[in-house]
Amino acid sequence: METIPTSSWLNRKASPLIIAGPCSAESEEQIMRVAETLAERGRVQLLRAGVWKPRTRPNSFEGVGRKALPWLIKAEKEYGIPFMIEVANEEHVKAALDAGIKHVWIGARTTVNPFSVQSIADELQGTDIPVFVKNPLNPDLQLWIGALERLHVAGIRKLVAIHRGFSTYQEPTYRNSPNWEIPIELKTKFPNLEVVVDPSHIGGKRSLLKEISQKALDLGFDGLMIETHPNPDEALSDPKQQIFLDKFESFIDQLEEKQHHFEDSVALNQLEQLRRLIDELDHGLMEGLKRRLEIVEQIGNYKAEHGVIVFQLERWRSIIEDRMKFAEDQNIDPELVHGLWNEIHKASIRLQTDVVNRKLSD
Ligand code: PEP
Ligand code: MN
Repeated sequence: METIPTSSWLNRKASPLIIAGPCSAESEEQIMRVAETLAERGRVQLLRAGVWKPRTRPNSFEGVGRKALPWLIKAEKEYGIPFMIEVANEEHVKAALDAGIKHVWIGARTTVNPFSVQSIADELQGTDIPVFVKNPLNPDLQLWIGALERLHVAGIRKLVAIHRGFSTYQEPTYRNSPNWEIPIELKTKFPNLEVVVDPSHIGGKRSLLKEISQKALDLGFDGLMIETHPNPDEALSDPKQQIFLDKFESFIDQLEEKQHHFEDSVALNQLEQLRRLIDELDHGLMEGLKRRLEIVEQIGNYKAEHGVIVFQLERWRSIIEDRMKFAEDQNIDPELVHGLWNEIHKASIRLQTDVVNRKLSD
């Protein structure tokens, strides 16, 4: 079952949904200052602050806990923008709902665990509070979809996905590798589900935030969640990746919002022509592929008649070596060529195995 509803409840204008606030709620003063500054600037629709923090190692700051909840409610009353918090179990949900919190998110460490997601979904049943679901730590789209579905089955209709990148061992650039193809596939499967990007947890450092945020907008994602702190260097969690509160507005201003569709008819016409060219080239590629498979089948027959094995390692080595060299000379992405020819070779082996089996049963 793959039913996930739309996020049209967000009632978002054309511009991206902007969520900002500190990694963790640390003090009442910090929360009031963040809410006041961000409300004044008018770009932020939702505020964030972690109250219970999932930390990799014990003895790190684990959040101030439920005593932060009244600060968040007070700030919302005073400055008019709701705070959302992370919930990782049913106690968190109960405490959040009791305090009057109106939006929650499920963190990456929780999305990986269907038991935890289910208990959160059970506790939320009967409410209509918006739930934002971060991707799981590992690059597993089904697990992400599964979490969204568990909430949907529990009657939660206001769902948004958050892309925060995926854990990898020894990733040189990002704290969490973006693997953009995964959130893009989520959007392709559920075109009406809004997907917000969290550049802070993808980048892990301030210097990467602009590039990741712009990429998110260029790819047409629906919003950004950016960790913002009055004094990031002193932050009790994630100090390197939080942006200075006072610089938030100029940070957002430097991003370029792209149109989702062409408004200029000349540009649209040119795009249509290029797309027609792509269609023709794709058909040509497939005709070539069809011809290739016909020849593969002939070779299969030949091998079967002469009692020769289907998989010829030496031939495969020389094919891949030649195609990679050709790709390099032609300046074509080697990863693409390698992946494509692997698939083509697998299909050829399947085809020839079928030929041999057919001959055996004749
Ligand atoms: C957070 O948003 O501060 C957080 C802990 O995020 P994630 O679950 O993406 O690691
Ligand atoms: Mn954080």
